[in-house]
Amino acid sequence: MLLLPAAAEAQAGRTPQRNGTAAKAGHVRARRAAMEKLASRDPARLATTLAERYWGTVPCGGQVSVQADQPLAAGMDATTDGWVTFESSLGPNNLQAPASSYTQCAISLARWQWPTQAEQAGDWNMFCLTVVHEMGHLLGHQHSLTPGSVMAPVFTDEASVPPICREARLPVEASAGLTGGR
Ligand SMILES: [Zn+2]
Repeated sequence: MLLLPAAAEAQAGRTPQRNGTAAKAGHVRARRAAMEKLASRDPARLATTLAERYWGTVPCGGQVSVQADQPLAAGMDATTDGWVTFESSLGPNNLQAPASSYTQCAISLARWQWPTQAEQAGDWNMFCLTVVHEMGHLLGHQHSLTPGSVMAPVFTDEASVPPICREARLPVEASAGLTGGR
């Protein structure tokens, strides 16, 4: 068995006299190690996993392809950073159709915004939020003007970033070599 640095530290730091505290710290570190393991995969995959957890369900029968580094199609607003494509009972990409009819679902993430995995990791909060937002569309959610909603049509600050994305930020940055770790 290979001990990740965080796990090794959790073992060394165990204090039998203070079981409660030690167990709690160990638990946090184990979660962190698990997150670092996840983060060592590509950011798009991690964001997809977190988006599924955020919504507590998976759209399109679990068949969603997530493609980063995509060029904007002709006619697309130049500020578009993510979008969905799918077939529906009302034709292609029709968000008025019931989400239960969506097939061939894909989330695309714009190259101009996040051309590399390092940039996806470096702009993690907004990258993760965008994946959560697009996954919401595939679940049939329309845009919302409720302050702080992940379904806001435009993000002007990080207020809409879900905690599940924020929690992953340091591990993602660390695994991308962007920070010294903790
Ligand atoms: Zn949208």
